[in-house]
Amino acid sequence: MEKAKVYYSDLRTSPTSNLLDKMERLLKRAGIEQLPLKDSFAAIKIHFGEPGNLAYLRPNYAARMATLLRSLGAKPFLTDCNTLYSGRRANAVDHLQSAMENGFNPISAQCQVIIGDGLKGTDYREIPLNGEYCPAPKIATAIAHADIVISMNHFKGHEQAGFGGALKNLGMGCASVGGKLELHCASQPKIDEASCIGCNICVKHCAHDAVHLNASRKAEIDYAKCVGCGQCVALCQHDGAVMGAEDTSERLNYKIAEYALAVVMGKPHFHISFIMNVSPECDCWNHNRLHWTRHVQIWSSKPRYCTVTIALPRHTSTTTCVDATSST
Ligand code: SF4
Ligand code: SF4
Repeated sequence: MEKAKVYYSDLRTSPTSNLLDKMERLLKRAGIEQLPLKDSFAAIKIHFGEPGNLAYLRPNYAARMATLLRSLGAKPFLTDCNTLYSGRRANAVDHLQSAMENGFNPISAQCQVIIGDGLKGTDYREIPLNGEYCPAPKIATAIAHADIVISMNHFKGHEQAGFGGALKNLGMGCASVGGKLELHCASQPKIDEASCIGCNICVKHCAHDAVHLNASRKAEIDYAKCVGCGQCVALCQHDGAVMGAEDTSERLNYKIAEYALAVVMGKPHFHISFIMNVSPECDCWNHNRLHWTRHVQIWSSKPRYCTVTIALPRHTSTTTCVDATSST
């Protein structure tokens, strides 16, 4: 297999070269102008961040991307999809309000903002894939109908997947609510009664009313209601709610990879990873714990290449790394 070229930029700036300028140079060097953008609907998939989280990507990057795409003839729009768990991005109205509070609106982003899977997360198209885990991923309609997919992702830690980067931004992030259910369907947690202290946190935060405290004041899950979103596991500070034996990060990551493939299959796509403010947990949380590392690099890869390795700051067997701004 031909090695993919992955372009990167450091985050040093000067009065004549700020980060937005560097990002644009990186995009051009990595080949964004070669995409068939003229008159295309270009979906820019980004995470708007849960209100209260400050690690997500600033809208300024999205605005520069949208402006560049429009100058190349495209009709860009920003998009993300509704969540499975409780929070303020579980339907399009709350999601757009949250996006606006975090600075994403048509004025700041210089393009329209569309929730990909509609008002309640039920708008999707099945993309036949014949995957090992997911035969026909349920991809948000607005993204499935887009001519081109541009992934702008914030690289960070993730409670279930290990890390969240390009694949997670597409695979989980472009799944409709039904698709997210499929991704998580082996993820139903268990309660370790010896560890559960009955603090009630999981009960309060389960969006599906699937946990209650039993007569012994231990959490108990109603598996007929549980959708396996993993919120209770992530919230429990006492190892009372834990993932079941069936669930592994490996299985989830396979599914995410299959969904990501369904998103980009048969259409031009382009990816940029921002390895900055690398928080230990996902931007889905309404807070962000201290960053593991503040700023590393921006990486971008040419269309058609797989994004799986672009977060690694080194050459690999499938990638060659090219400093896109070495002349600055
Ligand atoms: S499982 Fe965890 S979060 Fe839920 S009540 Fe028990 S200790 Fe609290
Ligand atoms: S019990 Fe846990 S995994 Fe199941 S739906 Fe509720 S929060 Fe999600």
